[in-house]
Amino acid sequence: MRKAIFDSDTASDDMIAMLYALDHFEVLGITIVAGNVKYENEVRNALYTLELFGYDVPVYLGARRPIMGKWRTVEEVHGPEGLGNLTKVTVSRRPENEHAVDAILRLANEYPGELEILAVSPLTNLALAYLKDESLPKKVKKVWIMGGAFTRGNTTQLAEFNFWVDPEAVSIVLNAGFNITIVPWEVAEETAYVDDELWARIEGLKTKRSDFFVKVNSVLREYSKATGAPGSIHPDTLTVMIAHDQSIIEERVRKYVDVETCSTSRGAMLVDWYGLTRRTPNVEIVTKARRSRFVQELLSLLSRD
Ligand code: CA
Repeated sequence: MRKAIFDSDTASDDMIAMLYALDHFEVLGITIVAGNVKYENEVRNALYTLELFGYDVPVYLGARRPIMGKWRTVEEVHGPEGLGNLTKVTVSRRPENEHAVDAILRLANEYPGELEILAVSPLTNLALAYLKDESLPKKVKKVWIMGGAFTRGNTTQLAEFNFWVDPEAVSIVLNAGFNITIVPWEVAEETAYVDDELWARIEGLKTKRSDFFVKVNSVLREYSKATGAPGSIHPDTLTVMIAHDQSIIEERVRKYVDVETCSTSRGAMLVDWYGLTRRTPNVEIVTKARRSRFVQELLSLLSRD
């Protein structure tokens, strides 16, 4: 199995993406980064998911805030503790003592040219790892990023949440020389939604996993519907599915991509569509993905017990 690190701000969709990653990759570590909800809850949610489904994978504590520090958590999207309507779950597992940044660097050194990073969250941990060791991009095989929006930001008019939380980290990572594929927000919105019909099919599976899916995504579903979406949207899960099987990609382009770090448009993804910057393309962007494959993979994931 391919070796991977799952970098996560663990809430709702992150946990489904985590299960998919655990099924399809040898996950060497889960690194937690500030993002969706209160940091302690993100850590607890990762440990809870592992414990509930019996996976023995180390969890490493990473950045507790973005590089510039200012952001807000979004409990209104993921539930008060990031687990939908579930609260106050308990875990006996503990996180590791080693810091996430050191774990990323150590694993990249242990498996040069093999390690893939499933970065479904703000990029603070990866940016800090690169700042600590600039040779990291040469050792990491691939970075899969969920983030950025072309025109329909989900946090500000132009910014998708992960890019908005830590644009400085995004800029560092995109310009570091990693082999990167980005799955932007709109592609998830068009591909990875769970509408009422699919939700009912998932409920009908009656597995431990389907029950978990329904519980932890319950608030996400209501939030998404209130914004006009047909149901909950699962960008992190789609990104890990694409990382595992690129035949899910329908269209892709290679472009030079950076991010806006200034005031009102902080976090906006800047795609150089026409080569205006004369910079070498640094990123592959998925522009279209196959919904039928998302549905198939999700049902298969949640059918297993
Ligand atoms: Ca995430």
